[in-house]
Amino acid sequence: MSGTSAERYAVVSCHVERPLDDEVWARFSALQQRRPGGFAIAALLRPADTNAGEDEGLWVERAREVADRGPFGHHVHWIAPDKARPTVAGAAERVRLEGSRLRGLGFAPTLFCGGGWYTDAEVADVCADLGYVDCTPRPRRPHYLAPSERWASLASPARIRLPSGRLLTSVPTTHSLEELGRTFLRRSLPGFVHVYFHDHDLLSRRRSALLGLLGFLARRTKVMDLDSLTEALAGGMPEIGWDEVARP
Ligand SMILES: [Zn+2]
Repeated sequence: MSGTSAERYAVVSCHVERPLDDEVWARFSALQQRRPGGFAIAALLRPADTNAGEDEGLWVERAREVADRGPFGHHVHWIAPDKARPTVAGAAERVRLEGSRLRGLGFAPTLFCGGGWYTDAEVADVCADLGYVDCTPRPRRPHYLAPSERWASLASPARIRLPSGRLLTSVPTTHSLEELGRTFLRRSLPGFVHVYFHDHDLLSRRRSALLGLLGFLARRTKVMDLDSLTEALAGGMPEIGWDEVARP
């Protein structure tokens, strides 16, 4: 990436959790095509859960549309379509199985985000194996997690040296739309901003209105997308140890 360290840059992603809900899908598709603030919104899709009776054929059709429109990622809900965080062992295996299913269906996701911001060393290893850039880390503990619950702490892009020795590129998710609003009010915009929202937020008039903040963000930062950002930073990211990231 050219520019000085003082340059601010921003990316946006959406956790597409209800791709089979027609209304949610229509709203997300329209928004992604509109590119608010000029942002190519990365779609982090939750794969169809066929055990829960979801229609994988329709999922594939819709996933092909978003894969053609911008950066494409894998979002996992470990327990059920509406239950994001894992409560039993086997979290890494679920990511591996879903990742290989996505490839079998012809998709090549470049990005990953763990549901409920969950990750652990085994999940991170599978992400490295699958060649994913991990967006699961957050700069601050998500407010709804108890202090004993696992998450990963990171404020700006880095390459994380995992206990296995593998390197995992991570581009943390820094702001919800509400957090972005508070950041503007406090005039405390950091040098790197990765805003996220959920596809079903688009059902709420209040939350959809917050997307207007992306226009403000675009005027104060260099607008990028997650794939081009990762490519531009490439070897320039600092390398840090898993112990510095893993919480608690
Ligand atoms: Zn989710």
